[in-house]
Amino acid sequence: MVADTDFPHPQHFDFSHIEFLKSAPTLTQCPEDVGIEVAFVGRSNAGKSSALNAITGKSSLARTSKTPGRTQLINFFKIDEHRRLVDLPGYGYAKVPHRISKQLEEMLSTYLSQRHCLQGLMLLMDIRHPLMPADKQLVHFANELELPIHVLLTKCDKLKRGASQNALLQTRHTLSNYSRVTVQTFSSMHGFGIEEAHQKLDEWFNFDDGEGASNRNFS
Ligand code: GDP
Repeated sequence: MVADTDFPHPQHFDFSHIEFLKSAPTLTQCPEDVGIEVAFVGRSNAGKSSALNAITGKSSLARTSKTPGRTQLINFFKIDEHRRLVDLPGYGYAKVPHRISKQLEEMLSTYLSQRHCLQGLMLLMDIRHPLMPADKQLVHFANELELPIHVLLTKCDKLKRGASQNALLQTRHTLSNYSRVTVQTFSSMHGFGIEEAHQKLDEWFNFDDGEGASNRNFS
């Protein structure tokens, strides 16, 4: 067995100073495309706001009581001068008029494909019904862009341990052809999986000293 000290431990990110920076309705109104961003995305009601709050330890960072599908803005949270968390609008809410959902899709695809500082995507899916068609579409799209995805299978407290493990293995299996995708179980309610999510954020935010652009290929 290799001694623990043989590996440098990544610096853990301190979210204690995280603060709301701005909301943007379009890419042109986003903050300058520098530093590193990690974006949270998922279907409406997947548990994205709760996860953002649990992961940052700020219980009211992202609003959890909003009407699903109404929040159509890209919300930016500043961690430090070089790093931001991004809350992307939830998709797939049936009551949103077609015109709006089309606009939302365009906004998401523009952000994902044109944002150079985007280092990774946290994709949230309710563990009881993961990989709905829109989720699969997103995974495929991100893969084409060489954008890494970390899946949080949310609300795992709703399932018994065995069922939760099965869902995890099944989702990993279904996504095994995508080399940049990792998957974990998560519960904001029970605080389960926060450490694992932090490790992924550490990895993405420590990619360099925060000055550089992402390692994605924009050619
Ligand atoms: P969003 O629309 O993706 O931002 O989802 P929210 O965070 O607003 O959560 C949607 C609903 O799921 C709310 O009623 C939350 O209380 C509930 N929820 C979120 N996370 C969890 C969780 O870990 N466990 C359980 N049981 N419910 C959760």
